[in-house]
Amino acid sequence: MSSRLADSLCELARSFFARGLAFGSTGNLSVRDNAVIWITPTGVSFRDLQPEQLALISEAGEERNVCRPSKEFPFHLGCYRAAGARAQAVVHLHAPHSVALSCLEDLSAGEPLPVFTPYYLMRVAPLAIVPYFRPGSPQLAAAVEAAARDHDVLLLRNHGSIALGRTLEEAADRAEELEETAKLYFLLRGERIRYLTAAERAEIERAFPRR
Ligand code: ZN
Repeated sequence: MSSRLADSLCELARSFFARGLAFGSTGNLSVRDNAVIWITPTGVSFRDLQPEQLALISEAGEERNVCRPSKEFPFHLGCYRAAGARAQAVVHLHAPHSVALSCLEDLSAGEPLPVFTPYYLMRVAPLAIVPYFRPGSPQLAAAVEAAARDHDVLLLRNHGSIALGRTLEEAADRAEELEETAKLYFLLRGERIRYLTAAERAEIERAFPRR
């Protein structure tokens, strides 16, 4: 049993690996397909991921094929429960600049990344910060579910990022925008930055409403 969505999920996984946004066997991706969820398997690299390797689970977490899902499947299910129609796909990566950002001691809770491009505002902000919990733990899943109620992009302390989307492409765009903005942030550290003004931000929010 496979589907177009399973094919797209594997294509995206291989692309993340090829671009250095996922490495080793890190990261996990999922997509909702009617009442079931395709999710990347545990302990398998994205390098050459194929649809027959994907795990299939129900929205209650019951396994529906022989492949073992990522150990983070509880936080994927939490995102789908919390975000409703905003979450048809979930992208979790350990992309280097996002992880570096997640390790900074002094992150402003309200605005962990300053807004210096319109694209970050359109695709990412507001960015939620999820406190550190052990990967795979129920506490991490609960904190992610709480943050996903009113955010599309989450930064997991000392760990990585989670992006939700109405499609796989939208979730991937958000994860990539966060990674690129974090990269710019490190490039600009120590420089005097021209931030978007409040009026410029309001104009973007009017022109490109998120919800
Ligand atoms: Zn992770």
